[in-house]
Amino acid sequence: MKRNWIGGEWLPGARSIANINPSDTRDVIGEYALADMAQATSAVAAAAAAFPAWSMSGPQQRFDVLDAAGSEILARAAELGDLLAREEGKTLPEAVGEVTRAGQIFKFFAGEALRAPGQVLPSVRSGIGVEVTREPLGVVSLITPWNFPIAIPAWKIAPALAHGNCVVFKPAELVPGSAWALADILSRCGLPAGVFNLVMGKGSEIGAALLEDPRVAAVSFTGSVGTGQRVMQACMPRGAKVQLEMGGKNPLVVLDDADLDVAVNCAVQSAFYSTGQRCTASSRFIVTEGIHDRFVDAVVARLRSIKVDDARKPGTDIGPVVDDHQLAIDLEYIQLAQAEGATLAFGGTHAARNVDGQPGFFLTPALLTQTTQTMRINREEVFGPVANVVQARNYEEALALANDTDFGLSSGICTTSLKYATHFKRHAQAGMVMVNAPTAGADYHVPFGGRKASSYGSREQGTYAAEFYTVVKTAYTAA
Ligand code: ADP
Repeated sequence: MKRNWIGGEWLPGARSIANINPSDTRDVIGEYALADMAQATSAVAAAAAAFPAWSMSGPQQRFDVLDAAGSEILARAAELGDLLAREEGKTLPEAVGEVTRAGQIFKFFAGEALRAPGQVLPSVRSGIGVEVTREPLGVVSLITPWNFPIAIPAWKIAPALAHGNCVVFKPAELVPGSAWALADILSRCGLPAGVFNLVMGKGSEIGAALLEDPRVAAVSFTGSVGTGQRVMQACMPRGAKVQLEMGGKNPLVVLDDADLDVAVNCAVQSAFYSTGQRCTASSRFIVTEGIHDRFVDAVVARLRSIKVDDARKPGTDIGPVVDDHQLAIDLEYIQLAQAEGATLAFGGTHAARNVDGQPGFFLTPALLTQTTQTMRINREEVFGPVANVVQARNYEEALALANDTDFGLSSGICTTSLKYATHFKRHAQAGMVMVNAPTAGADYHVPFGGRKASSYGSREQGTYAAEFYTVVKTAYTAA
């Protein structure tokens, strides 16, 4: 059984859970520990005990740790990518790409440890100097979802450590393998005991230990809107810092003047790859009248050529849905959309086995047309390979439809018009805007995050991560 890493020791959990391959449910990847409240609390205690020394550690020590972790992740990208594809179900190239991204993130934040931001200014009063510095927060709880089993942990853990915090990391129950591999790497790269702790367990069972303990100064969470709201409610009473990344209902606007190939690529890539299980996935194609029919026909033609199969099989375009629970949600929304009057133009077919007879959660990408803005399929996040086409009269209506949502993570437009592209960049109500590019797919050295119900708190990634993982101090010194 793979154990939890707490206070510099590998400890068995109260129970364990089997990690199952969604491309072949007969394949058990391994047994992983499940912590109880007492064990999760002990991880918080270990992190709190390690904080005074780690908060005073120098930039070279932090650089060395993060750089070593990044190097090992990059060197093992093929092996860790295989594990990730096996436990989560994204294709092997996507999984290797994600692991590579995790390595790059550790390298980036190794550099950030050397670039601790601060200012020295003259005071407005004579004879006084002013320094503005950033200090670590303390113990941070990092809670991550299953859809990016190594990249999201990396983009929370690396900045937390770079800026001098101690970490209690709880990965999603469905994907403990990548999280454990990352913890194993971090356990060997020079961190003092207790600075980084891995607590595998169920959110519903141990969440309170990670959220409500007064020793936890901050929580960074990525997951569903409902859980995010619970995280916020648990942290607010004592004023703990909170950063939430939640859902999306990301629009991709396609205008009459779009390059059709570009538009189809953006649509298919961002709605259906990674099985549509990305918070930045496009789920609403908002298409103007003049290109609507050509766009729908071209997307359907492309979807016909897509192979849904074992995530690790060469040639697979789209792997399985992550588990039976998510599959049931996807199928329910496809049914519901049709009941509300949408047309299923392609896909949405569930196969309980692939061509080789492996039992898994296979679902062909579903394209729904003739959908309207009031249908639930256009208002609620599905989190699967399901996208809806909404027809718009013109750019102005398309923009209004794109913004008519509770969410605001990523918003895209396909157009050859500089005028519309420029207007859209300014007026799209989203944290990230994409022009002639898929709504999914972001860089690691610039801010990531959304508006409205998609996000709360400061942005993740890049130099902006310092906003969350540090607190500012203003010091005055009289000469
Ligand atoms: P999803 O539906 O995508 O799995 P969740 O929001 O349920 O999203 O899960 C995201 C992360 O939040 C997971 O690590 C999960 O274990 C954790 N989680 C779930 N419930 C709680 C809770 N009550 N407190 C803290 N963490 C939780």
